[in-house]
Amino acid sequence: MTKERSRELFEQATSLLPGGVNSPVRAFRSVHGAPFYVKKGKGAYLFDVDDHAYLDYVSSWGAIILGHADDDLTAEIKSALEDGTSFGACHPFEIDLARMLTEAVPSMDLVRLVSSGTEATMSAIRLARGARGKDGVIKFRGCYHGHVDSLLVKAGSGLETYGIPDSAGVPADLAKHTYVAEFNDIDSVAAIMKRTRDIACLIIEPVMGNMGVILPRKGFLQDIQDLCRKEEVVLIFDEVITGFRVAYGGAQQLYGIEPDLTCLGKIIGGGFPIGAFGGRKDLMERIAPLGDVYQAGTLSGNPIAVRAGLHTLKRLKNESPYGVLAQNLAWLTDRIREIARQHGVSYHVNALSSLFTGFFSDTEVNNYETAAASSRVLYETFFRMMLDEGIFFAPSPFEAAFLTLSHGKGELEKTVEAYDRCFGHLKERSAAEIRM
Ligand SMILES: *Cc1c(COP(=O)(O)O)cnc(C)c1O
Repeated sequence: MTKERSRELFEQATSLLPGGVNSPVRAFRSVHGAPFYVKKGKGAYLFDVDDHAYLDYVSSWGAIILGHADDDLTAEIKSALEDGTSFGACHPFEIDLARMLTEAVPSMDLVRLVSSGTEATMSAIRLARGARGKDGVIKFRGCYHGHVDSLLVKAGSGLETYGIPDSAGVPADLAKHTYVAEFNDIDSVAAIMKRTRDIACLIIEPVMGNMGVILPRKGFLQDIQDLCRKEEVVLIFDEVITGFRVAYGGAQQLYGIEPDLTCLGKIIGGGFPIGAFGGRKDLMERIAPLGDVYQAGTLSGNPIAVRAGLHTLKRLKNESPYGVLAQNLAWLTDRIREIARQHGVSYHVNALSSLFTGFFSDTEVNNYETAAASSRVLYETFFRMMLDEGIFFAPSPFEAAFLTLSHGKGELEKTVEAYDRCFGHLKERSAAEIRM
């Protein structure tokens, strides 16, 4: 597979962009490769500048759910463009999107649109701190909530991939207000709340997607909600991945939880930069211009992003594809597990709705520690072999793979066949290495 044009472009990029990229995991460094350069995407596929096709399981890190360059969405975007790209003033579509979001996620009485998931979590935390008059934030080891200063502590995939425990440049005076608990371990949360009264909020990915997919144990999220209510800690669900992904109403619908604040992003922009945070009226009324917590954005509620998001959500509402997505995922992951068994490869698949992660692990993966213990060496081999097969998984073992509505039977079968060849090869390698 020649990738000359991509190689040339990456060389140019490295002299202009740090590491050649605008977001770290795109660099393929952890898998010791060079990235391919995308010319275009269509349906479930990306096409690179050297004219290779890749069946795409990265799906813009979960932002794409219809598939790339969906015809109807593209038509809607074109029509939106005709009316101008940014107004810095109110427009009707932002009301429509806010209505769809608050109807889909009933715990949100009011919502504010921003331009990224990072902005959403950053603003939600400021709001919680302002409302509670406290500084402490509880987060979970391995959960990622964007590159917010306070949240770049034990923050999962990107940092984990490069072995960066926490980011430099975060003031110690700020980081000291962040308390790290263990996912699926309610005692670790209770212990923090017992140690200090200074907790404003707890932020959690209700289904972890940034240390690979890790599901909450039965009752864990309910216990979190009970504890937060008892201690008057603002509960923030970061549903930037799970919103409109694991169900139309997100993980909170699936698990029957009512967080105080919810952060959204990714899918709700239909492939454009967007984020949103919302929640209980009394909290959201603390936001400027109503209240004393400041938050603003030049491109917030951008009309193109809003109309692309609106179109996407309408499709998801009308077509209700979640049953089909879950069926497709079950079909795929059942076969993958069977292939792993046949070839004697220790592989553990966590899956929900339309996202999954396969860990090269002997044990179940249900927290940071068990995820981090999975084999990176085997993942690297898997990643490269799959790429050679024309299948694009994330260049890090700690990411989710995402199905879209464009991943049909043919795509799933192609994936299963590639898995069979790949695991056949892995079987040949020593058992000792497999346990690395
Ligand atoms: C991607 C992500 C974010 C950050 O969103 P950006 O748009 O990249 O800033 C926050 N939280 C979760 C759970 C995410 O997966």
